[in-house]
Parts: sequence; structure tokens; C-alpha cells
Amino acid sequence: MANKPKLAVWKFSSCDGCQLSLLDCEDELLALAGAVEIAYFLEASRAEIAGPYDLSLVEGSITTPHEAERIRRVRAQSRTLITIGACATAGGIQALRNFKDVREFTSAVYATPEYISTLEASTPVAQHVRVDFELRGCPVNARQLLELIAALLTGRKPNIPNYSLCIECKRRGLPCVMVSKGEPCLGPITQAGCGALCPACHRACYGCFGPMESPNAARCITG
Ligand code: SF4
Ligand code: SF4
Repeated sequence: MANKPKLAVWKFSSCDGCQLSLLDCEDELLALAGAVEIAYFLEASRAEIAGPYDLSLVEGSITTPHEAERIRRVRAQSRTLITIGACATAGGIQALRNFKDVREFTSAVYATPEYISTLEASTPVAQHVRVDFELRGCPVNARQLLELIAALLTGRKPNIPNYSLCIECKRRGLPCVMVSKGEPCLGPITQAGCGALCPACHRACYGCFGPMESPNAARCITG
């Protein structure tokens, strides 16, 4: 046990869905628990083992002064730090507030907004500390998460594609929702990884995996 790499899973501002993706792995989770020492993962266990940690998975965006200070402590204790999910890699749904004055929201939602301590913006983890790899998705794809962890544990390059979702869609032989239904689909400029989940359900992609490498957004919008 003492020689196994130590894994820690951290939560910041998020819905916990990405951590759940890891718990959802079920059979593979046993193999993972055999390969690493799960040292900190409060969604799975109350047991806490002190750092430093070989691999930290970080879910959630940075939205409060406390989180901004805490992520620096997590980084200092982590040999490799991976951000998982749209919140951690891009700011998430909560980053919608970045387009407005956050005080308008706190006074609309809370009876005593003066007790709310928040940053002006919800930002990705990489805006605060060095990040070794960003895994996209809302939530992340469990297969990609396992592939990433396996690659890091064995010291090889992770096989995570950065091409467009259209490639996955076509590989599955799905009818293009843009062509067949005339619906605006963000697939052409969205990074693959979900297995074309929404087109498989006859729905357009709304881009939860974020932009692919070098997206031609203007061309996609103007057609
Ligand atoms: S990226 Fe999506 S699923 Fe993951 S924590 Fe954020 S809101 Fe939840
Ligand atoms: S099809 Fe698009 S919106 Fe749907 S899960 Fe995949 S990346 Fe996200």
C-alpha cells in the first residue's frame, strides 16, 4: 500500500457530476483502487490521508477568495494536477455570471447578501495555478477519465482526441442533425470525447466539451 501512487480528488464550485463519473466506473473502480492509494476523495470516503499526492483530480471552478487560496495549497501538495470537467477547465455554468455584476445576483438570491464572499468572476483552475492536463466535458466521459489516469500511472501520453465531434458522429453512422433536421449544431467546432451523445438522441450538440483545437467558429455560424 505504501508504494502505491496517492490519488486525491478535490471539489471546488461544481455539481459533483464529474466525481460521480469516476464512481460510476464500478468494475474498473476496483482495479483503480488496487493500483492507487485513494488518499482523499470525500465523495467516496471520509478517510483522509495527508499529502503530498502523486495525482490530484480537481473538479469545479474558482469562485470565492477561499477557493482561490485553497487551490494553491492543493497545487503545492500535488505532483500532477488534472482538472476534470467544464467547471474546472472553463468556469462552467456558473461562469455565466461573468457577463454581469455579481452583486446583482447575490442581492437577488440571498436575503443577506453582505454575508456572501465571492469573486467577481468564476474562473478555470488554470487561471490560478499550473495545470498538467485538462479533461473536458460536462460531465467528463468515464472512459476518457480512466484512460487519462492509466496513462499517467504508466508514464505514457494519454489518448485523448482534440478533433471535432463530427468525427465521432460519423464513425457511429449517425445522421447529421444539422443536415437532416436543420438544427444548429455545435458539433463541427466542439471537441470529441462524449461519443456523440446528443446526436445519438437526435439532438444538436450544445458544446459541453468546449472548442476543438483550432475551431473555425465564424465559418460554423455563417455556414
Ligand atoms: S462540469 Fe458539469 S458535471 Fe462536472 S461538476 Fe461541472 S456542472 Fe457538474
Ligand atoms: S454532443 Fe455536445 S453537448 Fe452533447 S454531450 Fe457531446 S459535447 Fe456535450
